Amino acid sequence: MRLLVVEDEQKVANALREGLEGEQYEVVVERTGESAFFRVNTEAFDLILLDLTLPGRDGLEVLRTLRDKGVRTPVLVLTARDTLQDRVQGLDSGADDYLVKPFAFAELLARIRALLRRGRENESPRLSVADITVDLITRKVSRSTGPIELTVREFELLEYLLRHQGQVVSRETLARDVWKETARTTPLDNVIDVHIARLRRKVDHEQPVRLIHTVRGVGFVIREGEP
Ligand code: CA
Repeated sequence: MRLLVVEDEQKVANALREGLEGEQYEVVVERTGESAFFRVNTEAFDLILLDLTLPGRDGLEVLRTLRDKGVRTPVLVLTARDTLQDRVQGLDSGADDYLVKPFAFAELLARIRALLRRGRENESPRLSVADITVDLITRKVSRSTGPIELTVREFELLEYLLRHQGQVVSRETLARDVWKETARTTPLDNVIDVHIARLRRKVDHEQPVRLIHTVRGVGFVIREGEP
């Protein structure tokens, strides 16, 4: 992981470099907003640690410019300013997190890890409808109320419904595409119904908006609102 540290105070910059390199991060230090801006435009970083009080263009200006240019790299603002207004300004300008000096190095590391993790999650392909999200790589499923634990089969079923969201899928289709069973003498209808019931309990139980619906005589559909 490659980090850009934007800090004009030599002592602080050196301490950050030493500590972060000790944690196996690759560290590049820039001392002004202009040079940082130039670096970000020409090289890729996984995270930027940005001091706010810099000579020339200050950190907030740099941050706003980066975001205006569409740079999405996570930014952790480091600063001695700690008034509420400063925090709000920092976050409004596009910072992902905010740490007030002096801070414990362990806390800095924890925040960095959290931001890098979040960045990776954001890259994962996802399927969603209404407030349900399925991450196809981490295989995490969640609604706004929190995470949902699914079995492998339930996950496959939900993924299939989401890939066909808004369309009614029949039991025959599910048997063929999810269970991969085409030549069974007894239909899988009961098995499918049991899995749908379990999935629905996990996804829709006590939710104000139900997402998985049965269309009588046809099959099932995932969508926001009744079909
Ligand atoms: Ca400074």
